[in-house]
Amino acid sequence: MTAIPPPLPEPGPDTREFWEGCRRHELRLQRCAGCARARCPPRPACPWCGSLHFGWFAASGRGHLVSWTVVHRPTLAAFEALVPYAAGVVELEEGPMLVGQIRGCDPTELRADLPVRVEFGHCDPAGIVWYPNFYEWFDAASHRLAERAGAGLHVLRAQGFVGLPLAESGATYLRPVRFGDDVQVHSRVSGFEARRFRVAHRVLRDGELMLEGFEVRFLGQPHPDDPQRLRAAPIPVEFRRRFGFD
Ligand SMILES: [Zn+2]
Repeated sequence: MTAIPPPLPEPGPDTREFWEGCRRHELRLQRCAGCARARCPPRPACPWCGSLHFGWFAASGRGHLVSWTVVHRPTLAAFEALVPYAAGVVELEEGPMLVGQIRGCDPTELRADLPVRVEFGHCDPAGIVWYPNFYEWFDAASHRLAERAGAGLHVLRAQGFVGLPLAESGATYLRPVRFGDDVQVHSRVSGFEARRFRVAHRVLRDGELMLEGFEVRFLGQPHPDDPQRLRAAPIPVEFRRRFGFD
């Protein structure tokens, strides 16, 4: 089977800043130097006052849904795996309208004024999810896991730890995850050493194992000789117990 790549942005002089921002997970908008209104998509002149002067800023990424349509027949073959999906118009907090895929809830549950937040995804030109995404998901999953166990960052900081720094990580890729796939990350603490612990991550799509990953983390503490440095604290028994280890 040949994967048909989705159309990719072709950054030009007007849009490069916007696309470069997306690469860094930042929603960049133009603001007119004449009338101070924000605009999107990027263009050289202000549609309201005609000024050619503007600056760029990072938008909040928050807005609300104004209108949407649920796509059942793909307009392009590359989007076939996504249907049914919702494409919507979002009014950003800063004013401009942005068009994009509306994800994270069933299309039948969409409603006008639904608050939404921008999300960025990375794929290679063949539509295969770019591997750094998995490490971001692992990181988020580990912190969620710790929170659920009652050892979230605010709890750890109250106990004098700076957090759960990473010592090692890795992944084995079994099947490619593609643009539009809905995947689940299953994570658990799989073992403890005196000063480190291991988190095992499994990424599943419809119950099928796509990749396996791991992280080795420690409880970070300011070094007694130099508070700028970190050291791995001995793991307290109470911390192990929170994850089901005695
Ligand atoms: Zn203007």
